[in-house]
Amino acid sequence: MANTNVFAFAESRGGELRRAALEAVTAARGVADSTGGQVHAMLAGAPGIGGLAAKLAACGADVVIVVESAGLANYNPEAVAATVAARLSSGAYRAAFFVASAQGRDLAPRVAAKCQLPIASDITEFTVSGDAVAVKHPGYTGKVIQSFTLRAATAIISLRPGAVLPKDNAKAGTVEAVAPAIDPSSARVVVTATVQSEGAKLDLGEAPVIISGGRGLKEAANFKLVEDLAAAFGNAAVGATRAVTDEGWRPHSDQIGQTGRLVSPQLYIACGISGAIQHLAGMRTSKTIVAINRDKEAPIFKIADYGIVGDVLEILPVLTAAVKEAKKGA
Ligand SMILES: Cc1cc2nc3c(=O)[nH]c(=O)nc-3n(C[C@H](O)[C@H](O)[C@H](O)COP(=O)(O)OP(=O)(O)OC[C@H]3O[C@@H](n4cnc5c(N)ncnc54)[C@H](O)[C@@H]3O)c2cc1C
Repeated sequence: MANTNVFAFAESRGGELRRAALEAVTAARGVADSTGGQVHAMLAGAPGIGGLAAKLAACGADVVIVVESAGLANYNPEAVAATVAARLSSGAYRAAFFVASAQGRDLAPRVAAKCQLPIASDITEFTVSGDAVAVKHPGYTGKVIQSFTLRAATAIISLRPGAVLPKDNAKAGTVEAVAPAIDPSSARVVVTATVQSEGAKLDLGEAPVIISGGRGLKEAANFKLVEDLAAAFGNAAVGATRAVTDEGWRPHSDQIGQTGRLVSPQLYIACGISGAIQHLAGMRTSKTIVAINRDKEAPIFKIADYGIVGDVLEILPVLTAAVKEAKKGA
């Protein structure tokens, strides 16, 4: 009989669950509901990490595999990959979901190589039917959508951050404690610290709303208008184009695009951004795109759901006031 259970890697950092964990569990739940199997979510970290199991259960995990060790306080690539691989080799899973965050991009290919299983990375859509898993991936800097079919006992899928919206779907979340498959202290690669980008309140991969600024903002100081709008939303992160990060107006960690971060928020507001193909590569899968540009021919309008033609320096304060007003009534 074909495998019916589905695995999800539940990413954490510093003892906190990442949004990526809930996205992976939600994706796995959708598949398990169609295969009739269970969702098994794996949570690895320092002793006490198992306290987060209930949050995974609320999102649809039937079983939470808890791997606790002092050596897993920071992400430990070799020990975590060995532990996930051991589970996948013995667990008869139809599919295994990761999120292509910095951690997931490191982990998922290691696991695929160890288990000799096919992997599809940076996936925005997927369907499981019979023995095939069909996936979609934006290719050639987002100019085409590539469709692949994985045929294997277990398909490894690494989702683009934000491709799946976490949903509540409470399940038992029975905790199963397992030991790391190798001693974490024997790992040759050691993560000694994780550094949060300067001034970032919300990570670009976690934020449901991203307000991004480009050269049309004229100077670094005008990013205050972008930050004000992000603050008015309350759940927004600030991004930037490469033109801006190269100018030193924003840190490189804020850059979105082909050579920056890949994001898929619910709402992306592009402020004074032309819409160069390299920028679109990082954000065109956003669910709703709003563009503000004074040039009505700017390429960004071709992919925008809503366009505002005008001076971004005048429009941003008006939008910020409108969002604040709307929040009052909410
Ligand atoms: C190999 C390679 C990789 C790259 N990788 C990336 C990447 O990862 N990310 C990325 O972003 N770029 C990347 N680039 C750069 C990319 O090609 C563009 O140069 C860059 O995205 C342009 O940034 P921008 O839109 O801020 O600036 P511009 O292209 O200069 O656009 C500014 C826009 O602001 C508008 N504007 C001006 N004043 C106002 C105003 N007052 N009000 C409203 N609108 C106004 C203008 O009409 C214009 O459309 C890469 C390039 C190369 C060659």
